[in-house]
Amino acid sequence: MTTFPAATIIGYPRIGRDREFKKAVEAYWAGRASLEETTRALAGVRAQTRDRLAALGLTEPGAIPADSTAYDQVWDIASSLGIVPTRFDDLRLPDGSLDLTGYFTVARGEGERPPLEMTKWFDSNYHYLVPEIGPDTEIRLVDDRVVRLATEAPDLRPVIVGPVTLALLSKPADGAPEGFAPIDRLDDILAGYAELLAALSEAGVAWVQLDEPALVADTWPREVVVAATASAYRALGDLPDRPAIFVMGSYGPLGDALPPLAASGIEAIGLDLVRGEIPDDVDILTGKTVVAGVISGRNIWRADLQEAFGILGELRARLGDDSPIAVATSTSLQHVPHDVAREAGLYPELRTWLAFADQKVGEVLTLARGLAAGRGAIAGEIAESVAVRARRAAHPGVRVGDVPVVPDAFRAREPYLVRAAAQEDLGLGALPTTSIGSFPQTGEIRRARAAHRAGTLSDAAYDAAMRREIASVVALQERLGLDVLVHGEAERNDMVQYFAENLDGFATTEHGWVQSYGSRCTRPSILWGAVRRRGPITVEWTRYAQSLTGKPMKGMLTGPVTILAWSFVRDDQPLAVSADQVALALREEVADLETAGIRVVQVDEPALRELLPLREEDQPGYISWSVRSFRLATSGVKPSTQIHTHLCYSEFNEIIDAVDGLDADVTSIEAARSRMEVLEPIREVGFERGIGPGVYDIHSPRVPSVEEIEALLRLAVGSIDSRRLWVNPDCGLKTRGYAEVEPALANMVEAARRVRQEP
Ligand code: GLN
Ligand code: ZN
Repeated sequence: MTTFPAATIIGYPRIGRDREFKKAVEAYWAGRASLEETTRALAGVRAQTRDRLAALGLTEPGAIPADSTAYDQVWDIASSLGIVPTRFDDLRLPDGSLDLTGYFTVARGEGERPPLEMTKWFDSNYHYLVPEIGPDTEIRLVDDRVVRLATEAPDLRPVIVGPVTLALLSKPADGAPEGFAPIDRLDDILAGYAELLAALSEAGVAWVQLDEPALVADTWPREVVVAATASAYRALGDLPDRPAIFVMGSYGPLGDALPPLAASGIEAIGLDLVRGEIPDDVDILTGKTVVAGVISGRNIWRADLQEAFGILGELRARLGDDSPIAVATSTSLQHVPHDVAREAGLYPELRTWLAFADQKVGEVLTLARGLAAGRGAIAGEIAESVAVRARRAAHPGVRVGDVPVVPDAFRAREPYLVRAAAQEDLGLGALPTTSIGSFPQTGEIRRARAAHRAGTLSDAAYDAAMRREIASVVALQERLGLDVLVHGEAERNDMVQYFAENLDGFATTEHGWVQSYGSRCTRPSILWGAVRRRGPITVEWTRYAQSLTGKPMKGMLTGPVTILAWSFVRDDQPLAVSADQVALALREEVADLETAGIRVVQVDEPALRELLPLREEDQPGYISWSVRSFRLATSGVKPSTQIHTHLCYSEFNEIIDAVDGLDADVTSIEAARSRMEVLEPIREVGFERGIGPGVYDIHSPRVPSVEEIEALLRLAVGSIDSRRLWVNPDCGLKTRGYAEVEPALANMVEAARRVRQEP
């Protein structure tokens, strides 16, 4: 067996330095590029990555991960094993596989055929596609894609989502009997992996990486996870015909899943030592390669190499001198941008504090050199990283320890019933209709924003363009007969970046893209210092919108938890402190909206669930601070001001108490796709305030009929008091076009009218 490389990364950004990946697949989807051109472009991105990583110094055999994807890594392995929903059976080639076109079709849906569901990957903002497995799904290796990518250059290490994670992340296929779970098919899944491992071994691959983040999460009962881990790795470890296996447990500590891995025949085990400490029982790994994930794959701060090297030293002491240790990142670097060297526009001092993917490769290599040759070999680098940290801590804009002290009274409003009475003069009857905030971002809006940014459109002209847009969105809503209107959010590029650009303590990047799902990328802002509002942000737009209508205009803000979740947040103070700083800034904004005569303010928290810790023991603490900071942002107003919030998902059983704790007057949630499944948990907790379960799915271009919406509404009326029930879409409309939005909203208003008339 070849030894594991002394330095490696768990994965690298897949989008290309200039988002070549995005451009290639979108050109194909739009019919602007042929399949061949696209295939060649994707190969080009992979070659660029390999060349870059080799140039950065990942030159040992097996050090470069082959982890590219044409859409998503979970769908990659599922499709390789023939796990394709039966509704797409006709796309299969005679050997059962899909070509790239079929692969994209399942990922994106087609006509009436919905795509695979998409959901968040652990506690990150990356979304994976949820495979569908039934009792009869035929699971076998149908596609040699993994082998082809692993062998397109010498000495690559293929990276595959592991069998336990694949099984746990899958959902039962349509028609599966009650009580069936995909994990019931673990043996068949393992047979598929065995075929794949044999093929890799035959092709001469020395090491394979199986990513098993599900092993660190409490999303599933621990007994199930531990038992599955034991049987999976006993089976794979014992295979005669396979590459050496490296199992990586990212996003948290492996806990009781570690012993079964240690007892199996696999050769290397990776620990996330950023999120977890060295396990007490780490000595059970003696003899296997321990891959120490000491450089964070989740943040963009330069590491404290002194601390990281200390962890490696302790690991060395615990494992003994002869047990191999490799240095790595804690997770794939898919969560961070490519290269900080390209951020010429960033404040120069701030730039020295940062490490993007390429810089992190350097940190890993430095630590590996120190581990091999002793601390002296990297003393200079260690000293520099410590000096950078010290400079950062002393920076006046950072002011560590500047913890806002707020009295508890700042986090509480009058009781709900008092507020409801004070809000009666809003004149909203039963089943008020509204939208979630954004209206279609047309080409014209985007062009105006780009031109303004580039300096070719004056402030005054930009302002006028936005006002025209607001006026037309308000007029449309009047025409459609909605009850609570919005201004449409035309001026926002992104619901977090917009606020980041208007608050002190945040920086934004030029090339800092990370993949959100498929070809979709976002550019998270950097929360680096003390957060302060420079002045009113949304007040003028909202006031203008309100001036155009006699109906209530809903002010629209992004909540503190979501601002944190979708930014890179400073790691030198607790998240709760950063959240409170953001909340205080928002509190000022809410107060200014109220003063400007805005009676309804929505504070979106679509990411509330995303930050929920993977381990149950960490969840109450999170829920407590996140709820408290939302309340800090929203409780500075009079009882007569109606506070709304919006959450973007339907499976919120785990956080329903948190949602209740937010104490918003009205909460809108996604519900259409799951046909109002959320109503049950809502009833169970005895949620007594206003609630707007989405009645139409905005993720699809389909226009729902009046009857369809009416049916959903009637379901809702059956379990929620109609005086508390709101009528709204699942989410904002910014990704849709007016051709769909107008008729859909018209149908929604009509459906509400029918149900009101004849409850
Ligand atoms: N107000 C935002 C919008 O309508 C909410 C978006 C979201 O929940 N992600 O676009
Ligand atoms: Zn939403």
